[in-house]
Amino acid sequence: MSKEIQTVAQNTNFKAVCVGPWAEIAQFAAGEVKGKVFLKDALGTSGSELSVGALPAHTALPFFHAHKQNEEVYIVLQGSGKMQVDEDVFDLKEGSVVRVSPKGSRSLKSGAEGLIYLCLQTKAGSLEEWTGKDAVFTQTPAKW
Ligand code: ZN
Repeated sequence: MSKEIQTVAQNTNFKAVCVGPWAEIAQFAAGEVKGKVFLKDALGTSGSELSVGALPAHTALPFFHAHKQNEEVYIVLQGSGKMQVDEDVFDLKEGSVVRVSPKGSRSLKSGAEGLIYLCLQTKAGSLEEWTGKDAVFTQTPAKW
């Protein structure tokens, strides 16, 4: 049985969940895919899909895939491995961050310590304003 996402808090303008320690991501399953938890539905996001994946040591994803319209950013949290995009293969380690365009055919393989990573999926070309241009400072009194 797959591990469950815990809801921490929610209200009109937010939802907070917890997937637990990174070391326990392997206990999640998304359908047939073990070691993967998707967060779009749990969080109610409307512009992105975020997943956390765990590959045991010396394991490759069993497929290569591309996307119709979404780019992905892979962020390595722990471990090491290799990524292949089209014909290029490169090393991954803690702190590696990789953007892949929709048409890039991609896959991952873990090294000796396994690999735990985030994958952020967003519509390519959809970002119109970001950081300071999109931020609106508010006057909410701190309650902590
Ligand atoms: Zn993908």
